[in-house]
Amino acid sequence: LLHGAVDILGIGAGALVLGAFGRVPTVERPWGMGGWGLGTVPETVLAAAAYLVVGRGLLWYLRAPRGRGLPTVARSALVRQGLVAVALLGIAPLVCVVADAQPVLLPLFAVPLIALDSALWMARARAEEQLRDPLTGLPNRQWLLERIWTALDDAERIGARSALLLIDLDRFRSVNDTLGHLAGDRLLLQIADRLRHALPRGAEAARLGGDEFAVLLPVADSTTSATRIARGLVTTLSSPLDLDGLTLVLEASAGVALFPDHALDAEGMLRRADVAMYQAKRDRSGVEAYESKRDSNTPDRLALLGDLRRALDAHEVQLHYQPKVRFDGQVAGLEALVRWVHPERGKVPPDEFIAIAETSGLMPLLTEYVLETALAQVARWREQGLRVPVAVNVSPRDVHSPGFAGSVAARLARHGVPAGALQLEITEHVLLEDPTRAADTLAALTGHGVKMSLDDFGTGYSSLVHLRRLPVSELKIDRSFVARLAVDTEDAEIVRCTVDLAHSLGLVVVAEGVEDDETWERLRDLGCDAVQGWLVAAAMPPEETTAWLRARGSRGWRSPAALPAGE
Ligand code: C2E
Ligand code: CA
Ligand code: CA
Repeated sequence: LLHGAVDILGIGAGALVLGAFGRVPTVERPWGMGGWGLGTVPETVLAAAAYLVVGRGLLWYLRAPRGRGLPTVARSALVRQGLVAVALLGIAPLVCVVADAQPVLLPLFAVPLIALDSALWMARARAEEQLRDPLTGLPNRQWLLERIWTALDDAERIGARSALLLIDLDRFRSVNDTLGHLAGDRLLLQIADRLRHALPRGAEAARLGGDEFAVLLPVADSTTSATRIARGLVTTLSSPLDLDGLTLVLEASAGVALFPDHALDAEGMLRRADVAMYQAKRDRSGVEAYESKRDSNTPDRLALLGDLRRALDAHEVQLHYQPKVRFDGQVAGLEALVRWVHPERGKVPPDEFIAIAETSGLMPLLTEYVLETALAQVARWREQGLRVPVAVNVSPRDVHSPGFAGSVAARLARHGVPAGALQLEITEHVLLEDPTRAADTLAALTGHGVKMSLDDFGTGYSSLVHLRRLPVSELKIDRSFVARLAVDTEDAEIVRCTVDLAHSLGLVVVAEGVEDDETWERLRDLGCDAVQGWLVAAAMPPEETTAWLRARGSRGWRSPAALPAGE
């Protein structure tokens, strides 16, 4: 009906043009024509143009997406209509001649026209397919980028904000590995379905590949409201899924970026949302909005990264050592902590550059450097008769990099240091990405005789399951609990339970960040095995550590409170 109506209007427009040239149909000559020749080309072309402009124009107007078109789809539709128009114009004279001489043959023209039109339809459908993800039917990354561009343009025009949410499933890879890709695909389909249904009005979802999805909110009020929407979506996606009667929970993490607050272009929005998403994954917080001060990709951070790489090459990064002591005063070990004095910026806190190294791929280099330096120092100390184990912090990245266990073993051998003299401090984050791989690496390391220590216990997402799964022999209670131990009864209770739990699993418990006597005494009463903190000593450069070890080695370290007055 629509096409018919539009065609009638188009034909009417063509007839009006012909009428203007004095060609009016009569009863005797319903085609109103005759006398076609080269001279009548202009009027024919004009009539055809009027027909096409009115007919195609109306169709285009009626079918185009309201408000804003999709550039790619719109472009391919225009090309298609243009080509059909050219074809029509080309055969128009023939149509006229046939209409004049043998009108019954007119329907034959339909055959080539229909063929042309359907060929162009298929081309258009293929072009649209290229903007879709074949598995879920959701639009893909390219579509999303174009869509973000138009959304940003619109938002800018009306002075509104737009938000982009990036959603990534946690541990999807291990589901894929254990259940197979077919099962993984079916889960993704379910996830995509849920996402589609949970979308707020006006929002659009896309699949960027793998287990990564994006949601565009063309209009968003604020970071808070966008974050709230993201949290809603993450909660929806994280509810249990059914796979042939098997119930699975796939948690998701989301990052939020806002226009114009965080980025001014489509690529920037994607990058910023990605940074925020990575942060949400790291912190296990579910949803994070972009924060420039935590972004390792800002020009400032990139410059710092370059400087760090150079500093590592030039051996300008140092290790300081902080003792862990038992309550009887025996030195249980030393923790190696990196120190970097930047030529212009001065001391850069390790937390800061380690976060950058972790997101940039520099981490393995830094860890190699730390391991190398620490083992060389251990070997030197052993030559001097100081047999003290050293702990090195390793990041989840290291544990996931292939061949890590082997390279540690090789390094120990090269320095002639027994594996028992090395301890690696890991956090529960190693289990986040690929628990199976992490477990393999850790098993290989303990197989070589390297001891593992679980750092920062109590922060993040501590769970008994992790304690059982990680082959650790030591547990370090995070500074945040230790700091308020003496004043906060709840923290004291947490520490007590942790100590009991660790002991029942046969682990040694070390308390971090002990700064005063009272805390030291409480920890001793709670049955903690060792302490580390400024009360005993801050991290010291190697020579100072040597002197410290020599001085305390014989008589051990004792709390000032336990020392006779005057000492
Ligand atoms: P961490 O492993 O929890 O290290 C303990 C941090 O607590 C150190 O900070 C240490 O200087 C600080 N600390 C020690 N005693 C006290 C105290 O009594 N009170 C307070 N308030 N703080 C105390 P630092 O050296 O700034 O290191 C920060 C973090 O950077 C470390 O936390 C660790 O996660 C990371 N890190 C340091 N060195 C390395 C390294 O070589 N490799 C890796 N991957 N990470 C490292
Ligand atoms: Ca540590
Ligand atoms: Ca720690």
